[in-house]
Parts: sequence; structure tokens; C-alpha cells
Amino acid sequence: MTAKKVEKKFQTETQKMLDLMINSIYTNQEIFLRELIANASDAIGKVKFQSLTDSDILGEDSDFEIWLDLDEVNNVLTIEDNGVGMTYDEVVENIGTIAQSGSQEFLQKLQEKQAQAKDNALDLIGQFGVGFYSSFMVADKVTLITRAPKQDTGVKWESIGDGTYTIEEVDKPKRGTTIKLKLREEFTSDGDEIDLTNRQNIKQLVKKHSNYVEYPIKMKVYEE
Ligand code: ADP
Ligand code: MG
Repeated sequence: MTAKKVEKKFQTETQKMLDLMINSIYTNQEIFLRELIANASDAIGKVKFQSLTDSDILGEDSDFEIWLDLDEVNNVLTIEDNGVGMTYDEVVENIGTIAQSGSQEFLQKLQEKQAQAKDNALDLIGQFGVGFYSSFMVADKVTLITRAPKQDTGVKWESIGDGTYTIEEVDKPKRGTTIKLKLREEFTSDGDEIDLTNRQNIKQLVKKHSNYVEYPIKMKVYEE
């Protein structure tokens, strides 16, 4: 049985969070990469931990890695991991809704902080686990494709941050999660913000914010 593509509405709280991200109250939008790499690293940690008691969970795919890829033509930045991935229900639960009671508190704290210095708001992102949504600070479309171990199919989740997302089952040969960010024009070579289609810029961000990640972070290179 495969689940057909359906459109779902974000929880009100989730949409509030997204609106905050999209309207970029943070001056430091570049931290989205740190958040996505942290999630990739967490996901690898989880499957590694599970493999201690379930030795065949990893299969052939036992070299843990985080991959970054840039498509400068289409302005797409990809972050890929071979971590624990998510099932369909887990995607709905973890990505589609902010189930954590912390979200309300987050929004409140954020409003308080906004009255003060903007930079203070930054710490709140990690603290309250809204990391994934920070993607929408730099992307106008986010696509997540994921597969949990021992699942036959993968799951594709996609949103332009407009209040809804789509979700469907898709083929995904490998375990783990791939996140594709269609970069907002401001963050491309045509924009005024940091050019995220520039490899050197991405490398610098990784060095600056993700230097102590436990797993190798690699970037795909192409022959000129
Ligand atoms: P947090 O990391 O604080 O839980 P996030 O918004 O960053 O909050 O992520 C929400 C949830 O989505 C995570 O807890 C995890 O369950 C799931 N998730 C996000 N990214 C990944 C990933 N790369 N692999 C597997 N699960 C992920
Ligand atoms: Mg996170």
C-alpha cells in the first residue's frame, strides 16, 4: 500500500512559527545550516545507537556521513544524511506539527526578546527545537525526502510555507534524510544577502557553526 499525495494544513502554532521565519526577524539567517546539520548529526546518532542492539539495521550503509550539494543553476542547496530517517507518521508528527508544548512558550519569549535586541532571539531557536523551520529563512520551498530503516518506501514532504504542506510516499533507495532548499533570490548570486550558491560561503558557514559535529561533512564536487 502506498499513500497518495495529500495536502495537509499546518497547525496554527506551526504556521505562526513559519511566518516568523519567513519574515526573518533574525538578522542571522545563516544559522539555518547549523540547525539542519545538527538534525542530520542527531539522526545519525540515533541510528548508530539503535545499531548497538539491532546489528543488521545499518546494512551496507555503515559509514556515517553528512553530504552537502549545490545546484547553482537551479539555486538548490541539499543536505543529506544516512541517519535514522523518518516513517510517514513520524514526518507528520515531527515536521508537520509542533507538538512540543515549548512552542507557545517560544513564541511568547520571542516577542519579549524582539522588544529587546534582535540577536537575543537567536539563542531561542536551538533552545526550543524549531531548528527545521529555520530553513524557511533562506528558502521559499523546502522538500524533505526520508526513509527509516527497514521501510519499503520513503516519504516526501514539501512546503512553500504558505500554511500547507504535501506529503506522499516515494521511492528512496537509501536510509536517511535529504533536504532540498530552493533558495530565496536574496540568497543567490543575484541577491543582496550571503550567496548560498557559492561553495566557499557554504564551507565557511560549516566551519563557523558546525566545526564540532561528530560526523564527516562532505561536499560533492564536480569536474569543471
Ligand atoms: P529538534 O532538533 O530540536 O527536535 P527540529 O525542528 O530541528 O527540532 O527537528 C524536529 C524533529 O524532526 C527532530 O526532533 C527529528 O525528530 C525530526 N528531524 C529533523 N531533521 C531530521 C533528519 N535529518 N533526520 C531524521 N529526523 C529529523
Ligand atoms: Mg534540531
